[in-house]
Amino acid sequence: MEDLDPPREPPGAADTILRQMEDLGMYWDGEVLYQSTRLSAYEEILQDLLSRNLCFPCTCSRRQVRAMGSVYDGSCRSRTGDPAGSYALRLRTVPEMWGMEDRIQGRYEQNLESDVGDFVVRRRDGLFAYQLAVVADDAYQSINQVVRGIDLLDSTPRQLYLQSLLGYPRPHYAHFPVLLNEQGQKLSKQHFAAPVDTRQPAALLRRALCFLNHPPPTDLAGPAELLDWAAGNWDILRIPAWRGIPASRHE
Ligand SMILES: [Zn+2]
Repeated sequence: MEDLDPPREPPGAADTILRQMEDLGMYWDGEVLYQSTRLSAYEEILQDLLSRNLCFPCTCSRRQVRAMGSVYDGSCRSRTGDPAGSYALRLRTVPEMWGMEDRIQGRYEQNLESDVGDFVVRRRDGLFAYQLAVVADDAYQSINQVVRGIDLLDSTPRQLYLQSLLGYPRPHYAHFPVLLNEQGQKLSKQHFAAPVDTRQPAALLRRALCFLNHPPPTDLAGPAELLDWAAGNWDILRIPAWRGIPASRHE
């Protein structure tokens, strides 16, 4: 459960997500792991990266970083001595191609230094960055299959690089298409999309399966029946491959 950013999270959001999954007939094995309980593990990783000189303090303001375009220009890399005031920590990237064979989208790779740039692992406000937390948690939970929205495809090379620096095994990846609004943005609360209404779970599941090119027979009634059918008839090669979300790389 990605609850690292308390100021941006409405109270009860995590519980709502779990309840919605239950409404849809989806359950989980084991305890839910909350990122907010993992801060000391993230801190340990950060200290390890720092001691190996793999990250550096960055005092650039939001405005300065924005002026660099989509890739951080490395301007704080060469600073010596302690920075004044608050700072973010960025991971030093290398001019190498990093990528993977995505099970839906095919080959995807980026040059870490010129396409991505040194990226934030701890934010200026002290919060750990998503990239660091997700890599730490996947390894901690022995995740070997990562299935998520295509809006995170662009993050994957950074995560592969971090995994390799930390000596973690590499999972397999499958990035799904996501629902978009008329402006081509992902339906999310950030873009003021209406929340998911799970009062009619079977109708929702049916629409989701159609979106994923797995239209179910019309005589299936409840969520459990639909999910059973989907599991039995699943073919990942039928999921539409599509790269529709523009990248934002600074965080
Ligand atoms: Zn900087």
